[in-house]
Amino acid sequence: PNKISQCTWKKDADRSTTVHSVVDWNAPRPKILPDSLAAVGHTPLIRLNRIPQSLGLECEVVVKCEFLNPGGSVKDRMALRILDDAEKAGVLKPGYTVIEPSSGNTGIGLAMACAIRGYRCIIVIAEKISYEKEYVMRALGTEVVRTPGTANSFSRDGMFGTVHRLKNEIPNSVILDQFSNPSNPLTHYDTTAEEIYHQCDGKVDMIVMGAGTGGSITGLGRKFKEISPQTKIVCSDPYGSVYGYPDSINKTDVTFWEIEGMGYEFLPTCLDREVIDHWEKVLDKDSLPMARRLIKEEGLLIGASCGAILVGALRAAQKMNLGKGHRVVVILPDSIRNYLTKFVCDQWMEQRGLQEAVNTGNHKWWDTNVLKLQLPQLQ
Ligand code: PMP
Repeated sequence: PNKISQCTWKKDADRSTTVHSVVDWNAPRPKILPDSLAAVGHTPLIRLNRIPQSLGLECEVVVKCEFLNPGGSVKDRMALRILDDAEKAGVLKPGYTVIEPSSGNTGIGLAMACAIRGYRCIIVIAEKISYEKEYVMRALGTEVVRTPGTANSFSRDGMFGTVHRLKNEIPNSVILDQFSNPSNPLTHYDTTAEEIYHQCDGKVDMIVMGAGTGGSITGLGRKFKEISPQTKIVCSDPYGSVYGYPDSINKTDVTFWEIEGMGYEFLPTCLDREVIDHWEKVLDKDSLPMARRLIKEEGLLIGASCGAILVGALRAAQKMNLGKGHRVVVILPDSIRNYLTKFVCDQWMEQRGLQEAVNTGNHKWWDTNVLKLQLPQLQ
């Protein structure tokens, strides 16, 4: 099929099909956790002390360390939630096979949960996805299928075509479909957003994330629109992806980007662009050296999309004139482990002409020709 089902949104009051799992801050944290899935979420917020300051930014920039989840990414939260919800709905039963299209991190989260709960798991990833992610999934006992880089996502050999072919071949199999599953944004509405609001005592001027399925930013955006409508929701999107709004900002000759897990050539139903106040389009040459700066200057062992998201955050904070007393929260989705042979490797960066920027720490990220939008200034 070339269409994914509609991702419908249910407000708190009329949610009957999903379990409301809002964080209970008074519940004692157990000293010993029952399994690795119980360690998902409750990630720390850490202040950046060098990078924003080096650019003259006076606002406080704090990062939400999703790379510290047990599977190494923000997607652990969602993988666990969609599995839980499918079990509760009776869609997923013992002995079943879980099949899912992924850019790897959801795959790792599902692989971990399936290893613990005893399901067979098959993850479909695109050619460009790192071998580190594939090997982690295989080590967890998951089968991994690669789709050719040239295939359109909805074509027979593309991500969706392949998962549906597998589903037809394998009896008792399910596709939980993170791109259209309403439990995806609900995960972040219920947990990630609540955690940030609590950790910041309600003082958040801007939240910055990227979008793959769009689940994280949609859930964060929807919750903050309700509890803190003055908080600006900013999305970083790679050139080559079609997510940016207005559509004119997506215009580019770029057809390939190295950043994994962000942007596609179609709009997923889990991405609600209405909750996003501002978009920043980013290039690999900005994002990858920035990811290296996060590692080297801030000691954060993060993945490539974190660089892209931070570039968007710094640009947006500058454009919106955020100064002393303002706080920006930047989501850092995954960890260095996924990219040891890619942007973390000096030779790999050298081959792409990016190592000099890493060595000098000066990659002129502000030089990129980005469309400047007229934005209302924050109070
Ligand atoms: N960064 C990375 C590294 C990811 O794997 C993902 C998930 N695809 C994202 C960002 C975006 O998250 P979401 O799918 O919730 O939009």
